Amino acid sequence: MRFTRTARTAAAVLAVAFAATACGGDEATSASQSAESGNLTVGIKFDQPGLGLRNPDGSFSGFDVEVAKYVAGKLGVTPENITFKESPSAQRETLIENGEVDYIVATYSITDARKEKVDFAGPYFVAGQSLLVSSSNSDITGPDSLNGGKRLCSVSGSTPAQKIADQYPDVQLQPYDTYSACVEALRNGAVDAVTTDDIILAGYAAQYPGELKVVGEPFTEERYGIGLAKGDDETRGKINDAIEAMIADGSWQKAFEDTVGASGYPLPAPPTVDRY
Ligand code: GLU
Repeated sequence: MRFTRTARTAAAVLAVAFAATACGGDEATSASQSAESGNLTVGIKFDQPGLGLRNPDGSFSGFDVEVAKYVAGKLGVTPENITFKESPSAQRETLIENGEVDYIVATYSITDARKEKVDFAGPYFVAGQSLLVSSSNSDITGPDSLNGGKRLCSVSGSTPAQKIADQYPDVQLQPYDTYSACVEALRNGAVDAVTTDDIILAGYAAQYPGELKVVGEPFTEERYGIGLAKGDDETRGKINDAIEAMIADGSWQKAFEDTVGASGYPLPAPPTVDRY
């Protein structure tokens, strides 16, 4: 009798474990299904002021955070039911592919290489690669002035780091995990410049006024998309609708002014969503 009960319990435990495995493995839940259950996990940056920032009190702020919340609202999820997950540049595709996030809003450029692994809604913003240097620096004025062994920090897995590796092979590229780590390296003199999108650099320059400045003209086009699981066309369509609505009802401009605006980065015209 006793043995039987134990055996039955063991079988039940196994059955539950098996069901959990089958559910988490074979059938990936789409972001729309997560939203229907009332919760979303959204990838953002935690260290980019004006865009995606985790504040000391544990709250989150920035343009990407506002876009993430607006989209969640259109999917029927309130801000309290969003779990924000830090998504460093090099980990974004993996976080999406593993189902650890429902979607990512993290200064994430739409590229053909990334589209082989994930899909993108958007673009919801267009930025351009630029350079951040110390305010006292006068010899770095654009990417060509980095030749001759200048030490340049960027982030592994990012399009700006790739651009430098491909087109400016003489530059001493130092790949870090985050842009905030690059900014510290610049402030303590370990590198001569930091490169990434101008809108990101503007946020750091505003954090250290009189100490850091953005120089030169943007030299790439970075179209920011919302990354999600490849093939989840239903959710991609809904997110594209949400981006269009955010632009049309004025929330996009308000979100920009309330976040990035503080850095002095000028408000651009909103982009047109690309339903590829
Ligand atoms: N937009 C670029 C990218 O997706 C640079 C910014 C970033 O690393 O988040 O790689």
